[in-house]
Amino acid sequence: MPLKEKTIGIPRALVYYNYIPFLSAFFEHLGFEIIYSDYTTKKTLSEGSSLVVTETCLPIKVYVGHVLNLIEKGVKNIFVPSIQSVAPKIYNCSKIRGLPDLIRNVVKGEYNIIEATLDKSEKNLGLVEFLKQAVVPFGIKDENLIQEAIKEGFIRYNNFRVMMQHGMSFDNALKYAKEGKVVINSTKSEKDVNVALIAHGYNIYDKRVCMDVFKKLDSLGVKVFNAYSLTEEQLKDGLNSIDVDLYWANQLEMSGAAGYFLRTPDIDGVITITAFGCGPDSLMIEDIKRKSKNFNKPLLNLTIDEHTGEAGFVTRLEAFCDMLYRKKRAQNKTVFSNEDIDLVDDYSINLR
Ligand code: SF4
Repeated sequence: MPLKEKTIGIPRALVYYNYIPFLSAFFEHLGFEIIYSDYTTKKTLSEGSSLVVTETCLPIKVYVGHVLNLIEKGVKNIFVPSIQSVAPKIYNCSKIRGLPDLIRNVVKGEYNIIEATLDKSEKNLGLVEFLKQAVVPFGIKDENLIQEAIKEGFIRYNNFRVMMQHGMSFDNALKYAKEGKVVINSTKSEKDVNVALIAHGYNIYDKRVCMDVFKKLDSLGVKVFNAYSLTEEQLKDGLNSIDVDLYWANQLEMSGAAGYFLRTPDIDGVITITAFGCGPDSLMIEDIKRKSKNFNKPLLNLTIDEHTGEAGFVTRLEAFCDMLYRKKRAQNKTVFSNEDIDLVDDYSINLR
């Protein structure tokens, strides 16, 4: 029996930050009411963390908290995708791959998991198959209708990406894309120091998880670029410039962005933010750190988890940006003062 209510709950975590422009347009076109979980709070973090083992990475704990939030709101159908492989031999981490099983096992309650699998390696399940699986429990099988919804998804997604590439914030780009608009700011703000922020979207666009890092860097007078500022071609180009083979699904947004920004002369420093307990990130970051030396770029590596204190986080950002300013001043001077020559070119900090 198809599910009667055409309502779908989407946790505001993990793949939300990659695919929500596409998914929102897709479901809306098919007549769904979408209910999002609330923004992450202390409660989301503590409730999510309480249901999984301590070693689990922060984004998964956050995701569990968002599923709990949707159940608390009375949402009956919750979309929990299993994104296994996004291209032949390109895989996600085991936690993202096994997300529906993980949620089924740890979150008990009266709700349906709307499960769909994307697997372009072993099962040959591409985007169309993935989306069909998501709507079949609601009795939607009309191929033409699904194709139309996919088209709407791509239009919104592309509009969103164009605005992000022109420096708009995530929330504003999503808002305008949902309104069917593309708004480009013609006045480009210039700042003295430019920084590349290398991290997963779900770690930096969740303001609670990352303590609103964009606002903090802005208040330090730093202009921030990240993977969302780049086109797919630029990200692939970035991978080539640091000679990395693609294996992880999110390697483009990490290693690709890092490679691109490391060789960009206007970028003064690189900040990587990773979640404690993330296997793929620890491998990627090691590689990025080694390669950054060839490009002579200062690099700050911050590791976050649910215990990360805001004061310590801000202090590290301030110290790093201060160093970038001093380095820049020193480069522009022929006579150096004592404070200008104390430069650090690579330091790693675990903020636990
Ligand atoms: S890629 Fe890392 S941070 Fe993201 S869900 Fe997997 S283990 Fe966690």
